[in-house]
Amino acid sequence: MYDSIVIGSGFAGAVVARQLAEEKGQRVLVLDAREHIGGNCYDRLDEHGILIHQYGPHIFHTNIERVYKYLSRFTEWYEYRHEVVGNIYGKELPIPFNLNTLEEVYGDRAPHLEKLLIDNFGEGARVPILELMNHEDKELQEIAQYVYENVFLKYTMKQWGKSPREIDPAVSGRVPVLLSRDNRYFQDKYQGTPLHGYTPVFEKMLDYSGIELRLGCEAKSVLTIDPEAAEPVLFEGSPFHGNIIFTGALDELFDCRFGRLPYRSLRFDFEHYDRKFFQSHGVVNYTVTEDFTRITEFKYLAGQLDAPNTTIVKEYPMPYSGAEGEIPYYAINNSENDALFERYRSLVEKIPHFTLLGRLAEYKYYNIDAIVDRALTVAEQM
Ligand code: UDP
Repeated sequence: MYDSIVIGSGFAGAVVARQLAEEKGQRVLVLDAREHIGGNCYDRLDEHGILIHQYGPHIFHTNIERVYKYLSRFTEWYEYRHEVVGNIYGKELPIPFNLNTLEEVYGDRAPHLEKLLIDNFGEGARVPILELMNHEDKELQEIAQYVYENVFLKYTMKQWGKSPREIDPAVSGRVPVLLSRDNRYFQDKYQGTPLHGYTPVFEKMLDYSGIELRLGCEAKSVLTIDPEAAEPVLFEGSPFHGNIIFTGALDELFDCRFGRLPYRSLRFDFEHYDRKFFQSHGVVNYTVTEDFTRITEFKYLAGQLDAPNTTIVKEYPMPYSGAEGEIPYYAINNSENDALFERYRSLVEKIPHFTLLGRLAEYKYYNIDAIVDRALTVAEQM
């Protein structure tokens, strides 16, 4: 009855489903355990009319031309210029740490330090903090130490329960020391938020002949996956030989038989205020104080600047235990966890037409653009 079954309706699942239906003429069933589409990019108007991202702030940015073009089929854009400041003991400084931040921190010494940085790394360079710390020059080490202590150390301890030196260097490398005066958080050519929110993007994507959607449907309630069996995939009790595109947590598909894959989770505390603005920027990172990592004020992200009131969210990181209602957000990539993931991956490797896709299923830190790009490629190759 179906050519493909897609588990999950976030960007990974929704793009694959749409492409298989539209480009390959397939009949595609999309399952999602939640009562809504869009995965963690799901957004909605709250009771005050502010567009909130229920699972934390998502800001689209890309240099990948085909991804921008593709998503633009489903939305116009609000050209949101995402700037983040760090609240450092009450003072707000641009993040990533850039040449403007340098000036604010070092005053009269800044021109000399700026020259030193540019002579060593080049104008516009994006220098990972761990790389700067290893530099032999004493003054560069001093800057690195300042940035490490005031931007990275406590924020990362909150976010990951570990110091920046103990986590995958690619994670702290996402927010480099930036040798320019560009205060934007991202330097990509295209950036913004969907003009009417993310959820309508998913609605449009999935509204296509050939796509059938079942919400509130746990994959395991309709699919039986047994890699050892003669028929490894059963759908509603009958052998299924079409494509399975799985975007959920792989350990949970196999009842965590080798132990749980570690993920980081978050608790989101939303607050509403009857005043025009709560803070100076869309996102303020609390890099040295507080138990939450950052506060997002949504009206900036969606261009609702004229709204008379405002909604914010505070993010409190925590380990993912698998308890009812908890959500895994970030894979914790290190050699031990990646090896455990490999054990799970090898279970599905032998199942024909079984594809893992996305942050959870591939145990990988994907941005929106990277997963859309990957999903387009996967669908093309199918
Ligand atoms: N980070 C930090 N201080 C900051 C911003 C980021 O220490 O002010 C580190 C932290 O470890 C974080 C990582 O850089 O997890 C990546 O930050 P990003 O903003 O990309 O995280 P995301 O928005 O994906 O949660």
